[in-house]
Amino acid sequence: MAGMLELTVAEAAAEIAATELSAAEYFAAWREAAAADELNAYLWTAPEPERHEDLEGPLGGVPIAVKDIFVTEGVPTTAGSRILEGYLPPYTASAVKRMREAGGRVLGKTNMDEFAMGSSNENSAYGPVLNPWDRGRVPGGSSGGSAAAVAGGLAPAALGTDTGGSIRQPASLCGIVGLKPTYGAVSRYGMIAFASSLDQCGSLTRDVTDAALLLAALQGKDLCDSTSVGIEAGIGAPSREDLSGLRFGVPQLTEEGVEAGVREVFEATLRRIEQLGGEIAEVELPSSELGISAYYVLAPAEASSNLARYDGVRYGIRRGGDADLLEMYETTRAEGFGAEVKRRIMLGTYALSSGYYEAYYGQAQKVRTRIAEDFEKAFAAVDFVVTPTSPSVAFELGAKTADPLAMYMNDFFTVPMSLAGIPAISIPAGLAAPDGGGGELPVGFQIAAPAFGEQKLLEAAHALEGALGFAAAAGDAAPWRGGARG
Ligand code: GLN
Repeated sequence: MAGMLELTVAEAAAEIAATELSAAEYFAAWREAAAADELNAYLWTAPEPERHEDLEGPLGGVPIAVKDIFVTEGVPTTAGSRILEGYLPPYTASAVKRMREAGGRVLGKTNMDEFAMGSSNENSAYGPVLNPWDRGRVPGGSSGGSAAAVAGGLAPAALGTDTGGSIRQPASLCGIVGLKPTYGAVSRYGMIAFASSLDQCGSLTRDVTDAALLLAALQGKDLCDSTSVGIEAGIGAPSREDLSGLRFGVPQLTEEGVEAGVREVFEATLRRIEQLGGEIAEVELPSSELGISAYYVLAPAEASSNLARYDGVRYGIRRGGDADLLEMYETTRAEGFGAEVKRRIMLGTYALSSGYYEAYYGQAQKVRTRIAEDFEKAFAAVDFVVTPTSPSVAFELGAKTADPLAMYMNDFFTVPMSLAGIPAISIPAGLAAPDGGGGELPVGFQIAAPAFGEQKLLEAAHALEGALGFAAAAGDAAPWRGGARG
């Protein structure tokens, strides 16, 4: 049985299609693995389906873990928040529907930072997720449950969302592949909104081929999301094995706060790109230094508006209300939201209030435009922009919970692409010890491409992945080989 759990999504779907593997047995094996979750990666796992059918399609018969931010009809959906406890959505998110139409099925709903606000999963109302490489450390966030499930051998692949790094950073900290598509590539309908101008659905997978397979299924215009456009040419399986003729731009971002081990793996990966025939060039992204400042005005501003709907009337829990309606709103929100969500609502409301709007929200919007322009200029000279995905490897549980700014700095390298709306992928590039000492942990390498350049991005990532051979190099240390299950 262990053998079947080691197949990638592409391999399993091919074996099921060729009737070499029974979809029912495969699903049962994954259900068992998911039910034995010791990482707190799942908030809900699927029961045995009554019938095994509708397995046609490129994901035919493959169970996929789904971040608990996607609404699923009749299945509890909390977005990691106490305020949505007991909420049973009356409909299913378009991304989940598409995954099912391609033959995939929901394996479970994964734990996450409350309303996707966080970089460590410690902001979940349902307890932190543990990193399968070292259970004393965080898996990253906010799609930490999805990342830990895939890396820990509890799911073959997972859906996540990325607003400022929430797919790429946990993928990096867990040693797997995380793809954030172009804004608009995948429908946001039924994805509980955090910051609507930034939120994007993507995948957490063991390899780049599976990322392409999932994106091919998920992408597309959806009449239920007017900002969705899809990827016109579609997405095919990547096959490239060299990087000749491709230029990779390295921005001169501050190196402050980047761990020595992360820097080493990053430098080694640049050399690997050159060995594959790729060219390394310097690019300037001067406004990206302001990315974090702009993001932490814009995202909370949008969140403060999106979260206004949780008032105890329409969804989830209701508290108080004996005195009057206003008291009920206040008590429900005071008891339903966690500390980080409250911080964001207050920051966002402040930034949008009259008299401060221009000074904060207006300025941040200008920075956002500058960042997008910087990328446009860079892409006139290079095919891709590359950075470390995260300034550090997985950190210890509790290490940054008392210091929100330290937590926000996790997003330093991922936020600029989110603000520019462009696609970016994190692939595992090597192992490194944390600055403070300790065992070796995964380091992610981020590659960003122009809007809707996903196919070219996946091709380059595929070539680099093959040359890096991360999974083989990690060997028995890789938790999906049974470490986390065992
Ligand atoms: N860590 C970032 C935040 O807390 C990004 C989260 C995300 O991408 N959803 O806002």
